[in-house]
Amino acid sequence: MSVTIKSNILGIQPYVPGKPIEEVKRELGLTSVIKLASNESPFGPSPKVLRAMRAAAASVNRYPDGGCFYLRQALAKKWKLDPGQILFGNGSDEIIVMAIRAIVSPGEEVIVAKPSFLIYEIASRIEGATVRAVPLKNLRYDLPAMRAAVTPKTKIIFIGNPDNPAGTYVNDSELREFVAAVPENILIFVDEAYYEFVSAKDYPDSLQLVRSRGNVLVTRTFSKMYGLAGLRVGYGMGPRGLIAALERIREPFNINSIAQAAALACLADGAYYRRIARQIAAEKKVLCRGLKKLGVDYKESFTNFILIDLKKDSTQVAQALLKKGVIVRDMNFWGLKNFIRVTVGTKAENGKLLKTLKEVL
Ligand SMILES: *Cc1c(COP(=O)(O)O)cnc(C)c1O
Repeated sequence: MSVTIKSNILGIQPYVPGKPIEEVKRELGLTSVIKLASNESPFGPSPKVLRAMRAAAASVNRYPDGGCFYLRQALAKKWKLDPGQILFGNGSDEIIVMAIRAIVSPGEEVIVAKPSFLIYEIASRIEGATVRAVPLKNLRYDLPAMRAAVTPKTKIIFIGNPDNPAGTYVNDSELREFVAAVPENILIFVDEAYYEFVSAKDYPDSLQLVRSRGNVLVTRTFSKMYGLAGLRVGYGMGPRGLIAALERIREPFNINSIAQAAALACLADGAYYRRIARQIAAEKKVLCRGLKKLGVDYKESFTNFILIDLKKDSTQVAQALLKKGVIVRDMNFWGLKNFIRVTVGTKAENGKLLKTLKEVL
């Protein structure tokens, strides 16, 4: 006799994270390795944030504040929402999981783009949902096709905006039109993990939709621009009733106390993070210019990563880069056969990427 695992769980392809730097060093015997595979910030926390983390570390014998009181107040003020409209997750990933768990029953349907952020599909399958994946068109969301995929069983539609791995976004009028056309009993989950990087004039003001509709949930994270990926803090903003329902299934202490202190300190150090945003935007330009010079094709990105079309086997190139100490993401797994995805790093890291890519190609 052995323990029986549910068949929907056995059908899931596990998420494969980008390889950690230390593991690659150990495995390949390299001393210098850079990681441009997980869209992390290349910059650590600001001195103020580090100080807040150290202060919080002294009290970790106590459970954290399960309600994230101060962080909640700060975000409610920043986004002009009621504190009851905010939900915290152990990374915004956890909010994806909570929303599906609360809303989708086995056999019901979730609509995602293809390729898109893999957690939407994995979390849906864990709950026994059927996933309808609508192909991107020219690496952008095909919203008419996503609307056409709606059935009476549809419960959630995920819009990564901008999405990963394409790096493209749905603009304000497209999103409004889409939301207006979708029945109000379907949750429109707008994942804005890269919000802080987008400077496009026609990027949606999704919080206006949160305020005016009953079925829009917007998530953001401290993992990307704020550089706290290792601490796991994300948050969702939505209608009070929906947020209250999701609170019922939230783990009581899902945001640890050091993470709460760090996130709060990030919000108080806006100048530091605006400087980082400018730096990453400038580095992205340099990196794109370098790619152009190499004759390499890529999609214009509104995030801190770039999707590159190598027009040849990406697995081979990714492996060759890895051997030379450059970790990038092979997009084969996403069904993008000849693509890799690279995160914008520091000037030195981007220089090493370009130099190594040139050697490998
Ligand atoms: C990185 C990323 C997230 C954020 O994950 P966290 O759990 O907040 O670290 C969410 N959505 C997309 C599309 C991402 O690329």
